[in-house]
Amino acid sequence: MSVSRTDLTFLRRCVELAREGLDDGDEPFGSLLVDGSGTVRLEDRNRVKDGDETRHPEFEIARWSASHLTAQERAAATVYTSGEHCPMCSAAHAWMGLGRIVYAVSSAQLTGWRAEWGAPDSPVAALPVRAVAPGVPVDGPAPELEEEMRALHRTQFERGEAARG
Ligand SMILES: [Zn+2]
Repeated sequence: MSVSRTDLTFLRRCVELAREGLDDGDEPFGSLLVDGSGTVRLEDRNRVKDGDETRHPEFEIARWSASHLTAQERAAATVYTSGEHCPMCSAAHAWMGLGRIVYAVSSAQLTGWRAEWGAPDSPVAALPVRAVAPGVPVDGPAPELEEEMRALHRTQFERGEAARG
C-alpha cells in the first residue's frame, strides 16, 4: 500500500494537530487513531512542555487502545501521524497489536533537517518503525506535506535556540 488520497486527508489533520502543539509551546507532532470503518477514535498531539518527555501522541494512542479497543479492533486500526513513530512509540504500537502506520515525514527526514540546522542530537536513536516493529505495515512519507512539516520543525528549533540564548 502507499499513501492514498484518504490517507492524505487524515495526515493533514495530523499536521493541524502538530501546529496546535507548536502554538501551545509543545513540539510539532500530531496523531490520529482511525478504526477499521474509517472513524477517527482519538486524536492527540505532543504534550512534553511540562517536563514529561514521554508524552508523545502515538504513545498516548497505544495506551488508550488498551482500554478502549478489542484486540481485533486494534489490529484493524490505522495510526496516522505527522512524524514517524520514535522507537518508544513504535514499541508501544507493536506491543498493543495495532495495525498500519502512516506518517507524513520520516524520522530520517527529521534527523536530516536537524543535522542541517546544527540542532543537538536526540537522546534516542532515530530508528525507523520497521527496525523496531517489523510486523507493522508502514506507509510514508507524504511529499505533499513535507514543506509544511519542515517549517513547523524549523520554528521549534529556532524557539529552542532562542531559549538557550
Ligand atoms: Zn514517540
